[in-house]
Amino acid sequence: MSGRSHAPACPERTCVGCRQRHPRDGLLRVVVIEGRCVPDLRGTLPGRGAYLHPTPTCLEQAVRRRAFPRAFRVQGPLDVGRLRTAVGQAAP
Ligand SMILES: [Zn+2]
Repeated sequence: MSGRSHAPACPERTCVGCRQRHPRDGLLRVVVIEGRCVPDLRGTLPGRGAYLHPTPTCLEQAVRRRAFPRAFRVQGPLDVGRLRTAVGQAAP
């Protein structure tokens, strides 16, 4: 596909790991609950969300960059154990 549309068909979000834009459908929404990053698998959790490719690579990049505390405007660190479990189970 060449050229860029000014009206994307589906909403795009930026992955907090690799910083690439991607249709929201392909990204995992992440919210913070009581100091922990939690995967919003159903897209129903309230609050500020961050978006991540559901891959261990992008998760580790996000952790290294401290992208989650920045995205959620909290003083880190945030526990990402549940995210590791979630992306570990996702298909590559
Ligand atoms: Zn990514």
